[in-house]
Amino acid sequence: MKKYDYLIVGSGLFGAVFAYEAKKHGKTCLVIEKRNHIGGNIYCENVNGINVHKYGAHIFHTSSRKIWDYVNQFAEFNHYVNSPVAVYKDELYNLPFNMNTFSKMWGIKTPDQAKEIIEKQKALFNIENPQNLEEQALSLIGKDVYEKLIKGYTEKQWGRSCTELPAFIIRRLPVRYTYDNNYFNDRFQGIPIGGYNQIIEKMLGDTDVLLETSYKDYIKNHDISGMKIVYTGNIDEYFDYQFGALQYRTVRFETEILPDVDNYQGNAVVNYTEREIPFTRIIEHKHFEFSSVPGTVISREYSSEWKVGIEPYYPINNDENNALYKKYAALAEKEQNVIFGGRLGRYQYYDMDKVIAAALAATEEEFKES
Ligand code: FAD
Ligand code: UDP
Repeated sequence: MKKYDYLIVGSGLFGAVFAYEAKKHGKTCLVIEKRNHIGGNIYCENVNGINVHKYGAHIFHTSSRKIWDYVNQFAEFNHYVNSPVAVYKDELYNLPFNMNTFSKMWGIKTPDQAKEIIEKQKALFNIENPQNLEEQALSLIGKDVYEKLIKGYTEKQWGRSCTELPAFIIRRLPVRYTYDNNYFNDRFQGIPIGGYNQIIEKMLGDTDVLLETSYKDYIKNHDISGMKIVYTGNIDEYFDYQFGALQYRTVRFETEILPDVDNYQGNAVVNYTEREIPFTRIIEHKHFEFSSVPGTVISREYSSEWKVGIEPYYPINNDENNALYKKYAALAEKEQNVIFGGRLGRYQYYDMDKVIAAALAATEEEFKES
C-alpha cells in the first residue's frame, strides 16, 4: 500500500488548503471524504447552467488582503455584494440594519431621526452589559427591529429562545446609519465566477482522494501508522462522543427547479423573519452570478436540531456546548499525531476566510522547519 505523510479527513476548505500547502513543502497527502464529492459545504452543483450552492448560500468576504489574494489564485471573483431582503408579514425591508431599513420602518429620512428613535427604544431597557442575544439586539437596535427582523428569524434558525443564545451571533450583522445595503463590512467580497468547485479542484490537484470513505471505516481496514492526521470532521465523533454529543443545527434544503420562471424573487437572498413561516430564507442561486440563463433554481432553508447521522452545519456556541468542547479540546491536545481543524474540528462558527486563515496558520506551524 502506498504510504503518505498525511491522512487528511475531509475535503472541505480546511483539508484542501492543508493538502495544497503540504504539497508545496514536498509532502504527500491522502484525502478521505465521506461524501461522494470533494469541497465540503462550499460544493456547487450545476443545474441547467446555474451553480446551485448545495449546502447553503456561500458568499466569500474578508478583510484580509492576504486571504483575498490567496483565494484569487484559484478563481476569478465577480463583484457580487450581498444585500438580502427581509420579508416580515407583508412588509419588505433591506438588510443589514441601515438607513433604508429604518426609513421603511419609521417613515424617517435622516440618521439623526433614526438615532433618536433607536436611542429612545434602547433607553427603555437600559442594558449595559448584554448577557444574551436578546439583550445584545435590544441594546444595539431597539425593540421594533428586534421584534420584526431578529426574534422570529433567530428562533427559527437556532431553535432556542434569544435569551438562551450567545450575544456574538447577532454582532455578525452591521448596524449602519448610512443608506448602504452591503451585508458585510469587509473590504473584499464576491462569488467565484463558475462556482466554488474549481477552487477545491485546483487545491487538491493530483492529490489522491478517496470518496465515500469515512475515517472510522478507513482505519478499520488500513494501517495508518507513520501518517499524521488532519481531522476536519466533528471533534466529538472522533472521540466517540465519550463526554456526550456537542449540539449543532442542521439545515434541510428544499430545492425547486423552475424551468418556466426566469426571476423568482429578484434577489439572491430573501429572509423570512416571522416565526410562523417555517423556513428561514429562500436562495435564488442564479443571482449570485448575475446569470441570464432561462429558468431558475430556488432553495428554501429549514433549520432543525442535529442528531448523529445527519449533516451538522452550525455549531451552537453557547456556554454549555463551549464547556463540553473544552473537554474534547483537552483530549485533542494530547493527540500528538492529529491536527484538528475547520468548523467541525474546532467547533467554531467560522466563515470561509477564517477557515483558510486557520489552515494557513496550521501549515505554517507544521512546516516551519522545512
Ligand atoms: P466542511 O466544508 O464542513 O468540510 C468538512 C468535510 O469533512 C466535509 O466534506 C465532510 O463530509 C467531511 N467529513 C466530516 N467528517 C468526516 C469523516 N469522519 N470522515 C470523512 N470525511 C468527513 N462562510 C462564508 O464565508 N460565507 C458564507 O456565506 C457562508 N455561508 C454558509 C452557509 C451555511 C448554511 C453553512 C453551513 C456555512 C456557511 N459558511 C459561510 C461557512 C463555510 O461553509 C465554512 O467556513 C467552510 O466551508 C468550512 O470548511 P471546513 O473545511 O471547515 O468544513
Ligand atoms: N439574523 C436575523 N435576521 C435576519 C438575518 C440574520 O436575526 O434576517 C441573525 C440570526 O440570529 C442569524 C445571525 O443574525 O443566525 C447571523 O446571520 P447570518 O446571515 O450571518 O447567518 P448565516 O449566513 O451564517 O446563516
